Amino acid sequence: MTDEELWQAVLAQLQLQISKASFQTWFGDTRIVSKKEGSVFVSVPNSFAKEWLEQKYNKTIFKVLRGLDIKIKDVKYEVGKPKTEIIKKTVPFSIETGQLEFQEFKVDKDTNLNPRYTFDNFIVGPFNELSQAAGWAVTKKPGKVYNPFFVYGGVGLGKTHLLQAIGNEVIKNFKDKKVKYIPTEKFVSEVISSIRNRETQKLKSKYQKIDVLIIDDVQFLTGKEKTQEEFFYTFNSLYEKDKQIIISSDRSPKAIPALAERLRSRFEGGMIADISFPDTETRIAILKSKCQEKEIDISDDVLNFIASKVQRNIRELEGALNILIAYQKLNNSAADLKITKSLLRNLTSSPSHTINAKKIIQTVAEFYDLKEKDMLSKSRKKEIVKPRQIAMFLLRQELKASFPFIGRRLGGKDHTTAIYAYEKIMKEVNKSESLDEEIELIKQRLMCA
Ligand code: ADP
Ligand code: MG
Repeated sequence: MTDEELWQAVLAQLQLQISKASFQTWFGDTRIVSKKEGSVFVSVPNSFAKEWLEQKYNKTIFKVLRGLDIKIKDVKYEVGKPKTEIIKKTVPFSIETGQLEFQEFKVDKDTNLNPRYTFDNFIVGPFNELSQAAGWAVTKKPGKVYNPFFVYGGVGLGKTHLLQAIGNEVIKNFKDKKVKYIPTEKFVSEVISSIRNRETQKLKSKYQKIDVLIIDDVQFLTGKEKTQEEFFYTFNSLYEKDKQIIISSDRSPKAIPALAERLRSRFEGGMIADISFPDTETRIAILKSKCQEKEIDISDDVLNFIASKVQRNIRELEGALNILIAYQKLNNSAADLKITKSLLRNLTSSPSHTINAKKIIQTVAEFYDLKEKDMLSKSRKKEIVKPRQIAMFLLRQELKASFPFIGRRLGGKDHTTAIYAYEKIMKEVNKSESLDEEIELIKQRLMCA
C-alpha cells in the first residue's frame, strides 16, 4: 500500500464527515509525505492549515488512519509545497460529485455538462420516477412540453445528475441546440461581475442565445435582489421564445416566495416534480449499478448493510461504497460484513453526538439567509421571528434542551417564549406540508454540516 493510496482512503472517509466547503479548504492540498516508526507526516499548504488541522481535525484524521492501519501511532503536520495536480489525479475515490468537482472532470466548457451524468446510469424508483419521466419527455421536445421544468428535493438525491442527464440527452438528440448548465452560485457571480464591469448588456445577450437553460440550486437566489432581477429577465425572454428552462432547488417553489410569486403564472404552464427518498430496493439497485460502474464486486450482505444504514442521501451511499473500494485496494481483499461495519461506523453513529446549539442556530440562520445575530436580536420582523422559532423548536427536538436554556441561548428570551415557539411550530408542522419539508431540509443540513 502506497502512502498515496492510504491518504486517498483517509480523504474518502473524511469527506463523509465534514462539509464540502471545509473539506475543500482544509484538505485540498494535503498529502502524506512519509511514514516513520508509526508516525505519519502530512504535508499541508500553509501554516494556517497546519494549525487548523492540528487543532480541529487531528483526532478525526488519526482515528481514520488507525482504522485503516493499526500500526499508526500519531500524525504530524508540516508545511510543504502544494502538489495540487498530483493530488487531484490520485483521488479517484471522490465522494462529492457536486459542482465543485466538475472542474476536475471532463466538463464541456461551453455547456458545463459532465458526460458522466446520463439517463442510462440514473436509477429510477418510486421516489424519482415522476421527475425522471418528465425530464425524459423534455429531452424529446425541448421548449414544447413541461416548460419550465422545476425539480426539487433534498441534498444528494440526484437533482444535479438528472439536470445534467437532460442536458446531455438533448445534445445527443439535437446537435444544433445550444444547451447551458449553470449552478446558481455561478450565475450570481456572473451577474455581480457584469455589474462591476458595466457589462450587464453583454451578459443578457449571452443568455439570449441559449435554447436549453439549466439552472441548478436556485434556492441560492434567496436574498439576492439584483441577481433575481437578471434571472427574471433571462427567464422571461427565453420563455417567450419557447426556449426550454430547467430549474432545480432544494425546496418547492412555494418555499421560495420571492421566486414563486413572480413566476407563478409561468409555473402553471410547466411542471413541478419532486425527488423524495429512495426505498430500500432502489438503494440496493443504485449500489449495484455503482459497483458495476466502478468494476468492483461486493457481496449482497454488505450491500444490504450499507443500504440499511444510509437511507436519505444517494451521495452518501456512493461515499460508503468508495470507502470499501479504498479498503479493497489497500488490502487486496474485499471487506466482509464485520470489517464493513467498522469502516462505516461513522455513518452509523447517531448524529446527535455532533449537533450542538451553535450549529443549529447557524444552520437555521444560513438556511433563511440571515445572520446569527439577527436570530439573537429582539426584532419582531416576520422574516426573523419564524426562523428564530424554528431554531427554538429544533433545539428542543434535537437536543432535548430545556426551555430556559433555549430562551437564554436565543438572545436572552424568557422560557415562556421558547415554550410558545416550540408549540407553535409543532402545531404548524402538522398542518403545513411545506413547513414540514423546510424543517426536514434544515435537519438534513445539520447532519451534513
Ligand atoms: P443533488 O444534486 O440532489 O444534491 P446529485 O445529483 O449530485 O444530488 O447526486 C449525488 C450522487 O448520487 C451523484 O453521484 C449521483 O450520480 C448519484 N445519484 C443520485 N441519484 C441517482 C440515481 N437515481 N441513480 C444513480 N445515481 C444517482
Ligand atoms: Mg446538486
